[in-house]
Amino acid sequence: MTYQHAFLDGAECPLPVGKAVCVARNYYDHIKELNNAVPTEPIFFIKPATALQPLEKTIVIPDYSDNCHHETELSILIGKKLSKAKPDEVMEAIAGYGIALDLTLRDVQQKLKEKGHPWEKAKAFDGSCPMSPFVSKEKLADPQDTQLKLTINGEIRQNETTKLMINKIVDLLSISSHYFTYLPGDVLLTGTPAGVSRLESGDLLELELDGKYRFQTSVA
Ligand code: ZN
Repeated sequence: MTYQHAFLDGAECPLPVGKAVCVARNYYDHIKELNNAVPTEPIFFIKPATALQPLEKTIVIPDYSDNCHHETELSILIGKKLSKAKPDEVMEAIAGYGIALDLTLRDVQQKLKEKGHPWEKAKAFDGSCPMSPFVSKEKLADPQDTQLKLTINGEIRQNETTKLMINKIVDLLSISSHYFTYLPGDVLLTGTPAGVSRLESGDLLELELDGKYRFQTSVA
């Protein structure tokens, strides 16, 4: 199952699949649960297009990890080129909003962090970015106050509003576009709230965006 961007209402999405720009440590409660320091400016990293997979496709944990964490995040589909954009220029470039998993091999990431090495093996592996179809932007009432919810095997694990982001959507897009140009079809992942934990083989995941858009996936 190769990944293509799609809209929930079935509208065609001709945008090509590009990179996913991601932000680390963007919710205080998540920073606390991992004992990380609060950053003075946003920490960005990138997942390549090969990391994206449809949310409903089964999650396969790479064999070099024994601790794959789920991070449930608001995803933003970019429809227009953005480079060194001012905050008031970014909203019109947004094509839609979705919910995504920033899968993270926490054991691998911990070793890389200790050595001061980049995180790609832990965060950018094939299939590390399951993405839901997108809600077109005019249909999401307030992306900066939207509920993100993850239930695993019937138990709520993550349930938080995007209101609690440290750096807001407009700032994330504006600041990151000073380093990385967004092309149509690129995506921004906006960081995870608290509640990350280890995925187990056979887990059934239900993700819910804004209290009404629901998606399911599972772990091989
Ligand atoms: Zn994340």
